[in-house]
Amino acid sequence: MSSKHRASKAEHIRRVLATEGDAVAANTQGFNQGRYDSVADLEDYESLKEEARAIKEDAIERLPDLVGDLREAVEANGGTLYVAEDAEDANDYVRKVVDDVDGERVVKSKSMTTEELELNDALGADGVDVVETDLGEWVLQVADEAPSHIVAPAIHKSRESIAALFNERFDPERELVSAEDLTRFARETLGEQIADADVGVTGANFVTADSGTMALVTSEGNARKTVTATDTHVAVAGVEKVIPSVEDLRPFVELIGRSGTGQDITSYLSLLTPPVGSPTLDFQADEVGSPGDREFHLVLVDNGRMAMREDDDLRETLYCIRCSACSNSCANFQQVGGHAFGGETYSGGIATGWEAGVEGLDTAREFNDLCTGCSRCVNACPVGIDIPWINTVVRDRANRSERGGDLDWLVEGLTPDEEPAGL
Ligand code: SF4
Repeated sequence: MSSKHRASKAEHIRRVLATEGDAVAANTQGFNQGRYDSVADLEDYESLKEEARAIKEDAIERLPDLVGDLREAVEANGGTLYVAEDAEDANDYVRKVVDDVDGERVVKSKSMTTEELELNDALGADGVDVVETDLGEWVLQVADEAPSHIVAPAIHKSRESIAALFNERFDPERELVSAEDLTRFARETLGEQIADADVGVTGANFVTADSGTMALVTSEGNARKTVTATDTHVAVAGVEKVIPSVEDLRPFVELIGRSGTGQDITSYLSLLTPPVGSPTLDFQADEVGSPGDREFHLVLVDNGRMAMREDDDLRETLYCIRCSACSNSCANFQQVGGHAFGGETYSGGIATGWEAGVEGLDTAREFNDLCTGCSRCVNACPVGIDIPWINTVVRDRANRSERGGDLDWLVEGLTPDEEPAGL
């Protein structure tokens, strides 16, 4: 990295610290304290983590077989499963689904995978109106900003800044001031958009191969509305989200809310086996149709993940359940947030593994050195990922590729012994 590049990076970090640092610090430290309090009530915390880790290890090991089982389950339920090789492939598939139903508006619940694909831009290029229905995601869509946290995407914004944004953009009859004002305004506005939508796009926190059941963990219940108010549901998930069975959800349900936001259980945990069995609704015509009219497409995204599975060092990244505990517990992230400590899509310590795997070393090297290797995040991670080790490996790869190996002589012979050193 040139000294000019270093200077502009330092300037960027200083700017983020000055503009977003206070909100990021207050929110991440609050989540982190909540995690401590919440897991203290769990008698079997360590064994739950071991169980969750074992399920993910097994699932990634057997992933091709599980995807085969899942395909059978989804098709038996009346849906379609598509495995997309990369972002373009995934976006093309979703665009075609939307086009086939003459979709003019797509409503989405929160999905980092669709951020990775840049699905909104792809649909927008076709003239489709895409509306985020998660409050934080919607705020960012209105502000035209990128998420700064994998669970709470608008964590860098204060209530005052959101009120100013909404008042300026929407010019409401009564000035919006309080959190209640903002939430009510968002709920009414988004409710109208959802009722008028043709296609609902969701992510999935977990997908079970035995039954085609999706677990969606949300704070606002918007995923349920997105699925039931539209006749066509497209779920987009990384292929690593597949786990063997519904029973395997138990440790993750116990851990994910506690680890991320300190909630004993998240506000909404939706288990859907699409196509959902409720009748279709036409709000315009005030008509109720039949459940048989519903369409469901599950798009599993590879985009580098199957290569990560073959990579001894990056494979562990695929165990990540995107809870955000590593971000919230990280002293550096607590100061700067994901707009400095993050890449194209993902942020925080584990973002290095994700960005290296799905985007490449160039984006990972941009922020990788914000990990100091303190390892505080390892104990916080509900699946015990050695996040600092992944950072070390990626940094080493980035350095070697940047310098073309011309400094390898400096470390030759300094590789760790295979056996622990004796006393
Ligand atoms: S690496 Fe672990 S702590 Fe970080 S987001 Fe993933 S599961 Fe959560």
